[in-house]
Amino acid sequence: MEKKRNAKRCTVEGCTTFARSLSQHCVKHGGGKFCISEGCKTSARHQSEYCVAHGGGKRCQTEGCKKGARSKSDHCVKHGKEIVSLDL
Ligand SMILES: [Zn+2]
Ligand SMILES: [Zn+2]
Ligand SMILES: [Zn+2]
Repeated sequence: MEKKRNAKRCTVEGCTTFARSLSQHCVKHGGGKFCISEGCKTSARHQSEYCVAHGGGKRCQTEGCKKGARSKSDHCVKHGKEIVSLDL
C-alpha cells in the first residue's frame, strides 16, 4: 500500500511531517524562512523576517512574557486566560 507522493517529507531523520514547498524540511525543522536575527535558527513567522522571540508576529503584551500572542489576542495562552479573569 503505497501512498501518493505529491508532497515531500521533511528530511530530518524520524520526522514524518511534510516539508514546506521549496524546502527539504518541515516548519518545525527549519523549513520556510529563517529568522534573520543573528544566530537564531528558528523559522520566521509568516510575512515576517523574524521568529516570534525576535519580533516576528505578535507577542504577548504581558510584561516580561516573550511568548507569541495567539491570533486574535494580545496575549499568549497562559496570560490571555489570566487577563480575562482579572479584567473585571
Ligand atoms: Zn521535520
Ligand atoms: Zn529569531
Ligand atoms: Zn504571556
